[in-house]
Amino acid sequence: MRALVFDAPGLTPYITERPDPVPLPTSAVIKVEATGLCRSDWHAWMGHDQDISIFPHTPGHEFSGTIAAIGSELTKFKVGDRVTVPFVSGCGTCVQCLSNNAQVCPNQWQPGFDGPGSFAEFVAIPHADFNIVKIPDSMSYAVAASLGCRFATSYRGLVLVHETQATDTVAIFGCGGIGLAAIMIAKSRGATVIAVDLSDNALTFALSIGADHVINAGDTNPVVAIRELTGTGASVTVDALGSAITSSQCIQSLRPRGHHLQIGLLPPVVIQERATVPMHTVIGRELHIHGVHGMSAADYPRMLADISNGLLHPEKLIATTISLEEAPAALMAMDKERAPGITVINL
Ligand SMILES: [Zn+2]
Ligand SMILES: [Zn+2]
Repeated sequence: MRALVFDAPGLTPYITERPDPVPLPTSAVIKVEATGLCRSDWHAWMGHDQDISIFPHTPGHEFSGTIAAIGSELTKFKVGDRVTVPFVSGCGTCVQCLSNNAQVCPNQWQPGFDGPGSFAEFVAIPHADFNIVKIPDSMSYAVAASLGCRFATSYRGLVLVHETQATDTVAIFGCGGIGLAAIMIAKSRGATVIAVDLSDNALTFALSIGADHVINAGDTNPVVAIRELTGTGASVTVDALGSAITSSQCIQSLRPRGHHLQIGLLPPVVIQERATVPMHTVIGRELHIHGVHGMSAADYPRMLADISNGLLHPEKLIATTISLEEAPAALMAMDKERAPGITVINL
């Protein structure tokens, strides 16, 4: 099969031939039709993820496709089914998995990090009966691919972890894939949304999908600006970037008894990005701090129904579609200023 690989962290990725994956008794091989390009793929390429130890490595963790082969012990799916998979695959048998929290399964497996990912024609998923989700016939592969990491995690944060309501004022720091999804999802619940970014292009995109207020943090202190807009602070903050600065600014921007959702990842190997939580503020305002790490397959039906019913429009977040051949350059450029919105690779 064709696959994007890199031979060591930071070395130029390239397209090459790799062996097709073969399913184990409980795994499924999916023919990838579309796969999203996410900032975590860039972190993986940069060597910020210590779980990657076998090279050459293929990244990619949010994707959709059709089942090409299934293990002998699988009962729920058949070859040809149109499917997607959360970026965290659970073991299916532990306490977390059995309580629909596979996103924090201690025995979890992530394609593109713990093994070969979806920047390839085929990818194998373990415990497939537990982890695979069928997608509606009406949903395109590109849209389905865009859900698996950033959109689903934002959905879980703003709908399931904190049940966002029309009375909420939600401040979202970072208008990349997570942040744009968070804006759309918070607006779908009727909340007032404040979007923060350093890029005017990203903020213009944020306005186009419903943000009520935008703050360029390069021009204005966002903590002060949010206080001026809200009086006592936001009721919900989302760190959609994942940095020591944005996570701290989120917590400082909350009103008493507000909720912070940490969705942007903070790679532990980057020492200067280790966040310091202002715990005096947490206790003084009785703040709630939630880590949000994906969404299990069990919670997908509600999100897919919201999309089918027209409450959410993830297709509006897809700004760019590219080929696998264009993916190496796009992956290396992920830390550069680029067009706002999600990039999807069509296989
Ligand atoms: Zn991701
Ligand atoms: Zn588990």
